[in-house]
Amino acid sequence: MPLVTPLTKLLGIRVPVVQGGMQWVGLPKLVAAVSNAGGLGILTALTQPDPHALRAAIRETRTLTPHNFGVNITLLPSINPPDYEGYARAALEEGVRIFETAGNNPAPLVKLFKSQGCIVIHKCTNIRHAKAGERMGVDVLSIDGFECAGHPGEDDIGGLVLLARAAQELKIPYIASGGIADGRGLAAALALGAAGVNMGTRFVCTVESPVHQNIKDKIVASTERDTIHIFRTLHNTARVFRNKVSEEVVALERRPGGAKFEELRELVSGQRGRKVYELGDPDYGIWSAGVTVGLIKDCPTCAELLSRMESDAERIIEGMARMRVREEDV
Ligand code: NAD
Repeated sequence: MPLVTPLTKLLGIRVPVVQGGMQWVGLPKLVAAVSNAGGLGILTALTQPDPHALRAAIRETRTLTPHNFGVNITLLPSINPPDYEGYARAALEEGVRIFETAGNNPAPLVKLFKSQGCIVIHKCTNIRHAKAGERMGVDVLSIDGFECAGHPGEDDIGGLVLLARAAQELKIPYIASGGIADGRGLAAALALGAAGVNMGTRFVCTVESPVHQNIKDKIVASTERDTIHIFRTLHNTARVFRNKVSEEVVALERRPGGAKFEELRELVSGQRGRKVYELGDPDYGIWSAGVTVGLIKDCPTCAELLSRMESDAERIIEGMARMRVREEDV
């Protein structure tokens, strides 16, 4: 029995799983594999060097899947400020109708996407921003708990409480993001009122993910203690893999007087992080990773992963339903 939720109905997908935007990872082959497996694949716009390249990536993805997929645009401090609107217009002109936004001040993009009749999934890390997203007219909120890879915001609220707060406060569907890598996480998210889940790190460690095999092996060998927060002192906190470079960044931030971004730039640059995935050297630069690295024990295809998550979640939900004991049995 498939898990039918407001998310599967809205997006026209079979499994309530979204592959969230991931810098350097959200490329056509992975996106198509997720959509072909029944979830929603999402291309990461800023991974492409310019809007023209994003057009090519969208066309390539279309040759690989007949199913829906989306485009992510993340609005955060960047070394070279991107042409966000240019990426957005290119994707719209290519016929993309599902967008994931994340980061600061998404209102202008949300307005543009909604004026074109698109579905917008907006990622946020606190209830205040989620309610602002609701007022902006987004369709789905992606509620990103402290466990997540990348930018968790500055409030440090774990998914368990954040999702329960979402259930109390939000009127539109929301999905759980951060800390989910298996069917147990999917079932828990549904129990917390979510219409599905968003996963990033779990998809990095799949057969179709474009990262070097050494990085996938490193994830499988890692524990839940192998991530670290950089940029705490700059109020742009990011959860990344714990390695020589991220530990050096944190040490510089902890010096008396702290560190200015300019002093960290060479260490943290996304271009250097990209080399981690290309060269397969986990110590070459900064790379995003959620605490789910401790849960990930294999490197399946996207189809194997989603089919396993679906059947595990169904089994868990059925098991929970059987917990209801009739009074006469007590
Ligand atoms: P980049 O090389 O521009 O910057 C590297 C890191 O430094 C990023 O975390 C960025 O937020 C941070 N940064 C840049 N300028 C800063 C400043 N002045 N103060 C504080 N922090 C600063 O990043 P990139 O790897 O080329 O990525 C481009 C953009 O995409 C960045 O904004 C990044 O945060 C964002 N991003 C997106 C995703 C996604 O899933 N779409 C994931 C990770 C990062």
